[in-house]
Amino acid sequence: MERRYNFNAGPSALPQEVLDHAQSELLSYQQLGMSIMEFSHRSKEYQKIHDGANELLRELLNIPDDYEVLFLQGGASLQFSMIPMNFLSEGQQGNYVITGSWAQKALKEAEKIGNTFIGSSSQADDFRSIPDLGTIKYSDQDAYVHLTSNNTIHGTQWKHFPKNDQSRFIADMSSDILSRSLPVDQFSLIYAGAQKNLGPAGVTVVILKKDMLKNIPDNLPTMLDYRTHVDKKSLYNTPPSFAIYMLSLVLQWTKNNGGIQAIEKLNAEKTNLLYDTIDGSKGFYNGTSEKQSRSSMNVTFRLPGKELEDLFLKEAEEEGFVGLKGHRSVGGCRASLYNAVPIESVHALCDFMHTFHHKHN
Ligand code: PMP
Repeated sequence: MERRYNFNAGPSALPQEVLDHAQSELLSYQQLGMSIMEFSHRSKEYQKIHDGANELLRELLNIPDDYEVLFLQGGASLQFSMIPMNFLSEGQQGNYVITGSWAQKALKEAEKIGNTFIGSSSQADDFRSIPDLGTIKYSDQDAYVHLTSNNTIHGTQWKHFPKNDQSRFIADMSSDILSRSLPVDQFSLIYAGAQKNLGPAGVTVVILKKDMLKNIPDNLPTMLDYRTHVDKKSLYNTPPSFAIYMLSLVLQWTKNNGGIQAIEKLNAEKTNLLYDTIDGSKGFYNGTSEKQSRSSMNVTFRLPGKELEDLFLKEAEEEGFVGLKGHRSVGGCRASLYNAVPIESVHALCDFMHTFHHKHN
């Protein structure tokens, strides 16, 4: 069966090899006569997958020993609440850098828990840019500084991360984790829903510096206290075992394909192809974010007028391209170029865009 050119923003494309592998052992995992979905999460077979995924993620992202890696549920959205519940105490403030809708949602949850502060925001330019690092305001009261490394909806991405000894930086990396090398030690906590670069929906990865566990209040619901999941190695209750199994296959695929460095290089090639097509179109296609803030994962662009945009999306769909419609809150077009999107799909998209341009110029 022919597979489609999948540019979905998440859930999104998975590597064909991973799907083939999962299919090959769907009914009988390692010839044991049952699917991995049917094993107990306390079985040695599942335990091996669980630990293996943890170790591989540590290896690929070069995660230092003083960090925990957790596999949680509730999506990145639950992290919006867990972070202030665990780390924002009386007399402190959660400092939020607002670069898009997901950052706004994170802030909104923190506001329900404690005091917040906006250290910087690019809302005034419709989230077309990432603020200069030097313009972020910090305070002695900051419990942490929260940022969104890649803004899935607006198509912007931090190229460098802020650094200072006083601040505890926390990053939502849902839409660019594993796409590039990462200075993990500049962060106290990193979190990401899996459904873009890591695997299918259902598991959320949290990378947490151990010293963050010191001042967590004792009255939190058990499931919302990071210490529960650290103590039980993400096996306090039934984990999303199939999603973690898929995560382990995606991580293995990433390693087999040369690890982060090779993936980062290929991602740059893919991104450049598409931005070159946009920039070379003499304004027919218009990138929506500022050039220096452009995302390598979510390429957002517009066409001259809604009618042409609708026609573009319709014809694209007919040609086998999926997921090119921009987020409903901003409109326009968006192509998500996550790790598993093959460069052949990007070539096909660029060809289609050239043809469409010439037809409708
Ligand atoms: N943060 C970012 C940057 C996202 O792109 C998304 C989902 N697209 C979320 C948070 C929310 O993730 P989830 O659906 O896993 O809660």
